[in-house]
Amino acid sequence: MRPSKQTPWVFEVKSKVLYDPIIEEGYSYVEMCEDCSNVAKHLARETLDTVQADLYHPSEIVALAELQDLIKPRPHSPHGIDNAKVDRLLPTLIARIPIPEERS
Ligand SMILES: [Zn+2]
Repeated sequence: MRPSKQTPWVFEVKSKVLYDPIIEEGYSYVEMCEDCSNVAKHLARETLDTVQADLYHPSEIVALAELQDLIKPRPHSPHGIDNAKVDRLLPTLIARIPIPEERS
């Protein structure tokens, strides 16, 4: 017998670009679990699709506090999402999408 180094629980941490008005660039990298990262991605995608916009880092329009507010962690299953809060948040996220420079 030899001791196993295997962990029974794989917890993958992802680095995600999130909205951060304190930083000059307007966004920063935040470490989060894969579920949270997926929620951020889908939320950003839905927002961008609503106004037919696109961004290199779609999640740069979502703030960490907002993400935390929407997510309802459930034991042993993917995070739940509060859809009513998502609907209320959408206009805020849309307002953060940078307007492309106007061509003359
Ligand atoms: Zn999470």
